[in-house]
Amino acid sequence: MKPKIVIGNWKMNKDFEEAEDLITTIEEELADYQLQTEVVLCPPAVYAELVTDHASLEDSRFYAGLQNVSEFENGAYTGEVSAEMLASMEVDFCIVGHSERRKYFGETDEIVLKKMHRLLDNDIVPVMCCGETLEERKAGKHFEVVQKQIESTICTLTAEELERTMIAYEPIWAIGTGETATPAQAQEMLAFIRSLIEKKFGTEMAVFTYILYGGSCNGKNALELFSQPDVDGGLIGGASLKPDDFIKIIEAAETVIKEN
Ligand code: PEP
Repeated sequence: MKPKIVIGNWKMNKDFEEAEDLITTIEEELADYQLQTEVVLCPPAVYAELVTDHASLEDSRFYAGLQNVSEFENGAYTGEVSAEMLASMEVDFCIVGHSERRKYFGETDEIVLKKMHRLLDNDIVPVMCCGETLEERKAGKHFEVVQKQIESTICTLTAEELERTMIAYEPIWAIGTGETATPAQAQEMLAFIRSLIEKKFGTEMAVFTYILYGGSCNGKNALELFSQPDVDGGLIGGASLKPDDFIKIIEAAETVIKEN
């Protein structure tokens, strides 16, 4: 079984001191583990150096990630942060197309794809988020919606680019709501996404590609979610701000790896 991936998305939370504390606590808590799970921390961009400094330590237990990047290469785009800048800070991963960015900042699939290319051009792994609204699920359109998101982004990549890309399925109705997709719902959609990849890129790439679940994942439900055959790990919001809960999620990933 390939190692699981657990990514913490801190969103717009924590002041500098709190961010420092959170990183140090997680690092200390993980110090005694022989981890097979790959852990990625994605603080707000302003704390990039905090996370890259820690991640670059020889015995670091995590990788450095961020939550967003500019679709533009560089130049007169006030307030934006480019992929080249992220790369120069040694950021390894970056979330793109999170539903909050799609909803509040008008991020379309077209923009998401541009961001993915900026990241790939700079050797940063894009973690491309997709997922449906509650209305879309109730109307039975969830497969259609996710298929469109995958086809207009992931399926346009080359196989070499896809090898350096991850996908996170995050049903919007489960993000920050405390309402988790059932393990069966998560498995069903992740298997569907994998089948789309298989159709375009073949079985080997479909098996290789990391597809994560995100949406109210916590220390209590992670084991069951991660035990599903197509769930390669989790994108964790709220619970990544609570060290105890986050560590339990990582422990769940470790348990699943060891049992398989
Ligand atoms: C997220 O924002 O990516 C997320 C999964 O949030 P939460 O875990 O809080 O639902």
